Amino acid sequence: MNHAGFLQEELQALETLGLRRSLQSIASPQGRAVHLDGRQVLNFCSNDYLGLAADGRIRAAAVKAIENYGFGSGASRLVCGNMRPHEELEEELAQFKQAESALVYSSGYMANTAIISALADRHSLVFSDKLSHASIIDGIILSRAQLLRYPHLDMQVLEDMLKKAPTGRRKLIVTDTVFSMDGDKAPLRDIVELARRYEAMVMVDEAHAFGVLGARGGGLVEETGAAVDIQMGTLSKAAGCFGAYACGSKTLRDFLVNKSRAFIYTTAMPPALAEAARTALGIIRQEPRLRQQVQELAEHLRSRLRAMGFDCMNSTTPIIPVLIKDPHQAKAMSRQLLAKDILVQAIRPPTVPVGTSRLRMTVTAAHTREDADQLLNALRIL
Ligand SMILES: *Cc1c(COP(=O)(O)O)cnc(C)c1O
Repeated sequence: MNHAGFLQEELQALETLGLRRSLQSIASPQGRAVHLDGRQVLNFCSNDYLGLAADGRIRAAAVKAIENYGFGSGASRLVCGNMRPHEELEEELAQFKQAESALVYSSGYMANTAIISALADRHSLVFSDKLSHASIIDGIILSRAQLLRYPHLDMQVLEDMLKKAPTGRRKLIVTDTVFSMDGDKAPLRDIVELARRYEAMVMVDEAHAFGVLGARGGGLVEETGAAVDIQMGTLSKAAGCFGAYACGSKTLRDFLVNKSRAFIYTTAMPPALAEAARTALGIIRQEPRLRQQVQELAEHLRSRLRAMGFDCMNSTTPIIPVLIKDPHQAKAMSRQLLAKDILVQAIRPPTVPVGTSRLRMTVTAAHTREDADQLLNALRIL
């Protein structure tokens, strides 16, 4: 008997269900088109919404920072890894998000697990949308709090849950602001209103909204003016870099520095990364045109897809799902598009609920109308 036989068995089971995943190798910078397996393919699955991942100004900032500070940070922030670039980035992020303070994490996944597991304990109740990102769910599991999931965007059920919650327990509502696989938005003002009424804290994940929504690019919090307690977001999507942030009160920052384990027990991000992110923030601030461009292109693509009879669900952002339902069919369509040099991923369970497999398309400011039309033509004759 082979004690590791389950590895192959579980992979085979995924294969049978049409749910096995594998990696594709890109041999070029990110952009509207990328090099995949020796050919140039149009890329409609990146989260590089503003087309900054390969931006020359960000590259130059990183190179200069490597010359000034070297590459590694040597230790965790609390030991001796806290360098000037980290602090400068945090100051600018706080200012940009109109918060008292900001704290940077090494990734969005780490930020969510770190923040939630610090804020909630085994006696707490955490309320979260059914479609919240996996890193939010993992943070709740790590905190050992009781998880209460409400149906997607369902404020009535959320209110019922809050109403029934025992008093005297710490309560936290956590939600994505833009849902990563559906491209729709959370009703933030309603959530904040319920939180106030039932004495809960609100934490939002702006991963797909930061740099994209709001007149200044500050996300859905800026767009709605909702007063949330904790704004988390990533530097890996619209900012084209890597890392994440938590914005809130000075006390919150102090609390997280002392209590969030994925901040305390990990090496500080490389200073060049902090400098790259600070440069990206400057571009986000100074170039609102990029946000307008990506929204206009998303609107163009979505309206044409709907006119062709595709179900784009309730997307209102640069994330445009096309609902297929069957995972095998979604995968087959993705493969057919790739044969036409177009990269669109099939998103299947467990990333999305069973029966809702889809093609997930994203547009960026780097795409042209012709690129979008090429995708539409390919879908038309599939
Ligand atoms: C991508 C994503 C994350 C994780 O961020 P990384 O910086 O990639 O680790 C967290 N939350 C949401 C909603 C995301 O889409």
